[in-house]
Amino acid sequence: MKWCCVQFEGWHSEAGRRGLGVFATMSPEGQAFFVLQYRATEPNVRVTSDPVSPVSLVSQVGIQFCPWCGTRLLDWYRKDLSSLERPDLNVPLG
Ligand SMILES: [Zn+2]
Repeated sequence: MKWCCVQFEGWHSEAGRRGLGVFATMSPEGQAFFVLQYRATEPNVRVTSDPVSPVSLVSQVGIQFCPWCGTRLLDWYRKDLSSLERPDLNVPLG
């Protein structure tokens, strides 16, 4: 696969670990999209949250363009979506 930039390749390799990551997934309607995700812990770390000050363990936002080089992601990775998909990491909204 030809990556849009080395930064995207690097952050994709970090997906699912503590910190930032990028990956592709599918909406319930079957539309592919890219996600920029932040995880507060490594996988399977148990965290007890203070109910008065709740902690977000995972935050994410859908993105259309590479945050580092500006490439339109769905166009660039159209043929490689299956190898970028990490539906196991996606946190469905509401
Ligand atoms: Zn890029």
